[in-house]
Amino acid sequence: MMTGAEYRASLNDGRSIFFEGERVEDVVCHPILGPAVDVVARCYDHFHTTRPGAESPLMGVPRSAEDLRSRIPMLHDADLVAHVTYQSIMTLTTAASRIGDPKYAERVAAFVAHVQRRDLRVTECITDAKGDRSRAPGQQSDPDAYTRVVERRADGVVIRGAKLHISGACLGHELMVIPTKAMKPGEEAYAIACAVPVNAPGVKIVNTSYAPRHADTRDFPISAKNNCPEGFVIFDDVFVPAERIFLDGEVKHATVFAHSLGLWERLGGLSFLADEADQLVGFAQLIAEANGLAREAHVREKISEMIIHATLVRATLEAAISGCGFGADGTAYPDELYTNAGKYHGAANYNLMVRHLHDIAGGSVLTAPAIADLENNEVGPLVRKYMAGADGDGERRLKLFHAIRDLTADAYGGWKFVTNIQAGGGLYAQRIVTRKHYDLEGAKRKALKIAGMAEGAAH
Ligand SMILES: Cc1cc2nc3c(=O)[nH]c(=O)nc-3n(C[C@H](O)[C@H](O)[C@H](O)COP(=O)(O)OP(=O)(O)OC[C@H]3O[C@@H](n4cnc5c(N)ncnc54)[C@H](O)[C@@H]3O)c2cc1C
Repeated sequence: MMTGAEYRASLNDGRSIFFEGERVEDVVCHPILGPAVDVVARCYDHFHTTRPGAESPLMGVPRSAEDLRSRIPMLHDADLVAHVTYQSIMTLTTAASRIGDPKYAERVAAFVAHVQRRDLRVTECITDAKGDRSRAPGQQSDPDAYTRVVERRADGVVIRGAKLHISGACLGHELMVIPTKAMKPGEEAYAIACAVPVNAPGVKIVNTSYAPRHADTRDFPISAKNNCPEGFVIFDDVFVPAERIFLDGEVKHATVFAHSLGLWERLGGLSFLADEADQLVGFAQLIAEANGLAREAHVREKISEMIIHATLVRATLEAAISGCGFGADGTAYPDELYTNAGKYHGAANYNLMVRHLHDIAGGSVLTAPAIADLENNEVGPLVRKYMAGADGDGERRLKLFHAIRDLTADAYGGWKFVTNIQAGGGLYAQRIVTRKHYDLEGAKRKALKIAGMAEGAAH
């Protein structure tokens, strides 16, 4: 396994990355992206020291419900790039087994082995620029709105296009490029799946980040320690050798990758939503206690509703895992119905849970003075005195407000609002998959039975 230092050194590979109008020559030392590199490096060091000589725990495929379950806390302790690496490996493995073409299966296996051997990080490039959303890839006024093959050579293809919002793209080593939606006959050039090194000629990554820009990051106790940029990844005529191509023109298989990724992406999203729901309950109870309102009826009701939400989200996660299915190669897959319904429910109601937390907490979520104000000789003691609530500890209450603001009401909080809804394909996508896997005929039979209309009427 790589160490954190080896990982840092590996990023000095000529990659072409940009941030707020400037080309970034050294991502490791960059004031905003550098701390995100440190987060990934710390995880490399953690795996290296806790499992010396062993394969990275991200790399093996799960073989049982217990394997699926035990990976969740490990992935939550890991950084986001480690998380998407695991999801990428699972996506490719799942898709190769579903497509069943030995040529692609062999290439996927070789790529996964390469990633495992060198302990690389892979990010997920699926979402295209998409241009006019009402038009198919082949009907766009700009044919590059969806990533496509623009040239064929004896030893590979040249691709052009852009994949947007890619989590951690500039922090990984490989980009897993897969089609974002179904393709029709005539759209063969868009049915392309492949792996591209981040430093391949023609790859350019424009980054954004919610990382705090403040000199004193103590007021950002959550996002300062753990942040990850998104990349606007441009493929400006990038050559991909044949052995790195996992789909090339077979339009009927174009959706297999998106569906495979969706399953793993939403299981990851659901598992985070389950923890986040507990965190929101925890903050609501802590701030209610600090404010002296924990016994107030309307506060208890809101927290009870948050507890029910957290419990149901966790229950769907558990159902998704314990109801897992198995592929021909023995890989365990989470249950589609519970994964999608749980992810949808958790994401769709997240904003309501945050509303309850804000309602309970009060305006200091936004206006609590900075930690540095506590250290000012003139106002520090007064800030402490007037921030005190029920337990008389003004500093503790102030720190709770900073944590709540950082998590729910500042740059990171805004990022979370949108990410919970859009990541994994948006709420609409989860509704479609849930409906597809729900037993609608069974529901009709139950309705007909209770109506006394059962016999021969289940159509
Ligand atoms: C922080 C963050 C991280 C992300 N990380 C990744 C990543 O690592 N890799 C990756 O590939 N993607 C990633 N995504 C992208 C995410 O999957 C997309 O944002 C999501 O799929 C929606 O696509 P879009 O943003 O282009 O919005 P749009 O596709 O424009 O969707 C906007 C709305 O329009 C609806 N819509 C779109 N097209 C149609 C249509 N034809 N008919 C009817 N309704 C339509 C959608 O359902 C949605 O409600 C990330 C997103 C965020 C916010």
